[in-house]
Amino acid sequence: MNHSETLFEQAQKYIPGGVNSPVRAFKGVGGTPIFFKHAEGAYLYDEDDKRYIDYVGSWGPMIVGHSNEAIKQALHKQIDLGVGYGAPTAIETEMAKKVCELVPSIELVRMVNSGTEATMSAVRLARGYTGRDKIIKFEGCYHGHVDSLLVKAGSGALTLGVPNSPGIPASLAEHTITLTYNDSEGVRKAFEELGDQVAAVIVEPVAGNMNCIPPVPGFLETLRKVCDEHGSVLIFDEVMTGFRVSLGGAQGHYGVTPDLTALGKVIGGGLPVGAFGGKREIMEHISPLGPVYQAGTLSGNPLAMTAGLTTLNLISEEGFHDRLTEKTETLCEGFRQAAEKTGIPLTVQSAGAMFGLFFTDEPEVSRFDQVMNCDVERFKAFFQGMLKEGVYLAPSAFEAGFTSAALSDEDIAQTVAAAERVMATL
Ligand code: PMP
Repeated sequence: MNHSETLFEQAQKYIPGGVNSPVRAFKGVGGTPIFFKHAEGAYLYDEDDKRYIDYVGSWGPMIVGHSNEAIKQALHKQIDLGVGYGAPTAIETEMAKKVCELVPSIELVRMVNSGTEATMSAVRLARGYTGRDKIIKFEGCYHGHVDSLLVKAGSGALTLGVPNSPGIPASLAEHTITLTYNDSEGVRKAFEELGDQVAAVIVEPVAGNMNCIPPVPGFLETLRKVCDEHGSVLIFDEVMTGFRVSLGGAQGHYGVTPDLTALGKVIGGGLPVGAFGGKREIMEHISPLGPVYQAGTLSGNPLAMTAGLTTLNLISEEGFHDRLTEKTETLCEGFRQAAEKTGIPLTVQSAGAMFGLFFTDEPEVSRFDQVMNCDVERFKAFFQGMLKEGVYLAPSAFEAGFTSAALSDEDIAQTVAAAERVMATL
């Protein structure tokens, strides 16, 4: 037994499934999850001291790479000052100002502790603001484990085959309408029928929890239009795409402006952080300004704000996203060429610094049913082969991959060479 196997066995005695978040259990790919003890730059090191080039980045936050020196120094300094006070601090305002500057649709922002809290609070706010109950989401999109949103969800829920979770009252789930991602016509029809009952449409502006599916031209624009026509709130869940698809998120990249935005991952620089914000008129309904209740013991805590703000400052450097997008495209092109050389049908899609590999004959994957028709068994074999080669991909065929600024050209070349060797065995 290697160290990961021993540790996993022990973990299962005390932790359900041995993990604190289900997709980590490797159920989607088989085998034993790798236990890590150290990370630096583009690399993860497991308990047996094996090195992996990392394309998970702690599921998104590590956009500047692991153990970044500036973030570490800032955290050490804050630790010496105290790790939390449960009272206002200057850095919270600095963080809020930075977010409002980077994402202009956000006029007021509230910090929370996870992406789940961000979407949950945004949905409650939209319902409180409009006085309506119904929300529209899209099949295969994941917005955290919020009761109302865990209906036909993506990510771990999809990987484990439980997109609709037990434990959610039918009387609540009935207010969630699920439509097909990238189907503008379906959205228009739903609004013709139910438009005046719809509090909010919530969408991943690039879907990253059913692999990586960019919006087709006109889709996000249609959402904006129908929400305007029917007085519904448009929520972009940019937990994954925020500060990653571009500095201004997917909304900056595609030029469509939501009313509310949910943020997470990058905004915390690896610490537990989420945020939601948007139009002042709507955000003023949140407590203590308004009647929609929302709170958090650790919200805005100085360690999390320090890691997050330092990350946002680092990625605001001129050309950061252009360089990272270029790196991502080089990697994607490498995967395509490896597939071509080995005769493996593969479609590779990306948006900014996120990407997805689809083992399929379809030249473009834009719909959920196409995702479900991809060859999951082949993905599993590819994943395991890459793991042996020292490349850590997301352990699920339904999760987007993430790149970081710490990846060197050499890392990318090594990844592509490994991919070619593994594909030759598939
Ligand atoms: N929304 C999206 C788009 C996500 O990808 C995730 C997490 N992968 C969440 C919300 C939930 O965030 P968290 O896991 O921090 O609660």
